[in-house]
Amino acid sequence: MSQNLHRWIPSQLGHGEAMCARCHITNREAAVLGRLNACSQAANDLTSHEHLVLRALSGEFEVALAAWVTAAFEHLAAVGMCTNEPPYIITDAGREALAAAKASGRVVLDA
Ligand SMILES: [Zn+2]
Repeated sequence: MSQNLHRWIPSQLGHGEAMCARCHITNREAAVLGRLNACSQAANDLTSHEHLVLRALSGEFEVALAAWVTAAFEHLAAVGMCTNEPPYIITDAGREALAAAKASGRVVLDA
């Protein structure tokens, strides 16, 4: 399974029918650019949404279920940072990634 495929969710951008939860390209943009199966967001480079969901999994707060949350869970599971099925549970790899992201200042702590 390639980890650099887009993770399509319903578009929240007002154009296109779907958008990638990781790189934010829409299905129409991706089609025009010939990038329907090539996400520019590296699999091991977590997005701000994925950091937020990792923080929720570590018990800092709760997030309401939404399409982007589900997409974040699915990606985190694909890269081994949480368990594969609901209820998602953060793994040691997830805790380490979150700690590293916090230490490097890539996580905005008051988000
Ligand atoms: Zn993408």
